[in-house]
Amino acid sequence: MRLSLNIQIFVGSIAGLALGLLFARMGIEAGGVKQGLYLCGLIGTLFIDLLKMVLVPLVFTSIVVGVANLRQHSQLHRVWLSTLGFFILSMGLAILLALLAGNWFHPGQGLNLDLFQGANQNIAAKQMSFAEFIAGFLHGLFVNPFAALAQGNVLAIVMFALLLGIALVVGGERYRNVLRLMQEGLELMLSMVGWIMRLAPFGILALLAQLLATQNMAVLASLAQFVAVVLGTTLLHGFVILPLLLFLVTRMSPSRFFRGAREALITAFATSSSSATLPVTLRCAEQHLHVKPSIAGFVIPLGSVANMDGTALYEAAAAMFVANLVGIELDLAQQMIVFFTTMLAAIGAPGIPSAGMVTMVMVLQSVGLPAEAIAILLPIDRLLDTFRTMVNVEGDMVGSLVVQRLVKTSG
Ligand code: ASP
Repeated sequence: MRLSLNIQIFVGSIAGLALGLLFARMGIEAGGVKQGLYLCGLIGTLFIDLLKMVLVPLVFTSIVVGVANLRQHSQLHRVWLSTLGFFILSMGLAILLALLAGNWFHPGQGLNLDLFQGANQNIAAKQMSFAEFIAGFLHGLFVNPFAALAQGNVLAIVMFALLLGIALVVGGERYRNVLRLMQEGLELMLSMVGWIMRLAPFGILALLAQLLATQNMAVLASLAQFVAVVLGTTLLHGFVILPLLLFLVTRMSPSRFFRGAREALITAFATSSSSATLPVTLRCAEQHLHVKPSIAGFVIPLGSVANMDGTALYEAAAAMFVANLVGIELDLAQQMIVFFTTMLAAIGAPGIPSAGMVTMVMVLQSVGLPAEAIAILLPIDRLLDTFRTMVNVEGDMVGSLVVQRLVKTSG
């Protein structure tokens, strides 16, 4: 009997977790464990490399075809608006949740860390950093498409593909050959994703074993309260708020959603990268959750770079945590600044591991918190990244279903 891929991936993840725990117990220097971890590293990297290999042509063709298929302008307009509306709403809810939890639990209060002595720094640097971020973000939107494709710059590829898709819509029949080429390219990429997914159970097993075996439990324990608040709110967002939003708009039951989304969620958890997961996310949305390719091909790639609920939640929670650490009480106005900068920082974060840590500097500095504080969060980031990437990817799939429904009802 052949097990379905979904079950194989599930079994692979459980086996990976068990193996990781075993390695951790034996000690990573123990005989056999070193070799085991080396092998896991090879297999895990191979799996991610394969996903990344198809990523660029897949994103490009899927957006061009997605946009071009939304032929009528009015429909394109509605898809745009509901997509952006959903992204802002879901990220806004995630940030709100983090701020509420921060005010409620005060994680980090009482922890005294020498690193942060004399932390109340100058305000000049903060202005610079925010302005720089915006300028850098805008500058990064429009890039020579060949350079963007060669470098795997997903955001720039998304922008170019959007414009090309619109040009194809405007040009109509005249460019049907180009459109056909793109459509066939997309089909080819999707069949390659199908082959790569056969390796997913092994890739995920290897990645999870490696992750668990190399966690620094001592650091994790000292930051336990913060970790608990972040994980608790991330899971609340992923398992209650997003499914509730989905149910309210589409009436799809959470169990049906999670069954369809499972492959992508587990891949996101294991790779900590929304971009690497994107081929799997698209496949789940179209094949398991039955989102029309014209909607999924647009919402999912765009969401993988711009819609990051988990990252937004994490960055806001981390700002509250750092404020507590240095003994600064953020007032309502400052929390509103955190709200907006976090949203921008999450939109600007690329879908790669630990990207949220980098853009978080801007959030911290926007309210005068010390950027060096990320040093204390780095050792636990690999673990937290798994859950937030999973919720990032979940948000994209929920978004595609919600947009599909909204466009249908209004169309
Ligand atoms: N790893 C996340 C992602 O790819 C981004 C982050 O670091 O928050 O979605």
